[in-house]
Amino acid sequence: MRTLLAPLAAVLLLALPARSATVNADPALVDDLVAANRILYDQGVVDGFGHVSVRSDKNPEHFLLSRSMAPGLVTKDDILEFDRDGNALDAEGRALYLERFIHSEIYKAHPEVKAVVHSHSPSVIPFGATAVPLRPIYHMSSFLGSGVPVFEIRDAAGDGTDMLIRNPALGAALAARLDGGAVVLMRGHGDVVVADSLKLVVFRAIYTEINAHLQLEAEGLGQGQVTFLSDKEAAASAATNTPLVGRAWDLWKQKAMAGAR
Ligand code: MN
Repeated sequence: MRTLLAPLAAVLLLALPARSATVNADPALVDDLVAANRILYDQGVVDGFGHVSVRSDKNPEHFLLSRSMAPGLVTKDDILEFDRDGNALDAEGRALYLERFIHSEIYKAHPEVKAVVHSHSPSVIPFGATAVPLRPIYHMSSFLGSGVPVFEIRDAAGDGTDMLIRNPALGAALAARLDGGAVVLMRGHGDVVVADSLKLVVFRAIYTEINAHLQLEAEGLGQGQVTFLSDKEAAASAATNTPLVGRAWDLWKQKAMAGAR
């Protein structure tokens, strides 16, 4: 029987739709991850580079992330499942993001994190390169709390890297800098934003970019004298905003998905 069944099983496996079978997650979560990619591009957080992932709802050690491509073009067929060490379960020869270890090491170190955005969000770059801390200038970015830490890659790997988080050790060093916060800046590179949901991480990534832009203007206008939200104001405001992120998500999604494949 075995000799007869083995070739039959092989034929049946080949007949299955290979790509949908490789991602074990709620299809609605995959759809939301596609929307998150499109929104982050449409809102100017990512361009041809940057990525967003979500922890699997079926296996908390795994996460979903696109194959290596521009986020603005991602469809559900591009979503892959990764294990806790950043290995794709079934890449089928498709290229992977060099910096996928940002995601794997953050999920490993921070069980409460359910979604991660990495971008080169342009307005945050000056805050990673100077001693001026990124702080919440208004209520929409109150999740920034009392200030955002900066990851210095030279502390982890010395001078001469290409600035990329291209291995698990660098991912772990970056993850350690998060320290319970929502955002960590990467000197000379960009930032990482985390949250306990995909909708919240998209909200935070967008308002991190906007806050940085506004803070740059205020620092110039006020010659460095800027009044930020206090810790108490930031905490109270963040508690108010978190349940409301769905309103913004619906708007951003409708615009970003218009005419999408
Ligand atoms: Mn990068």
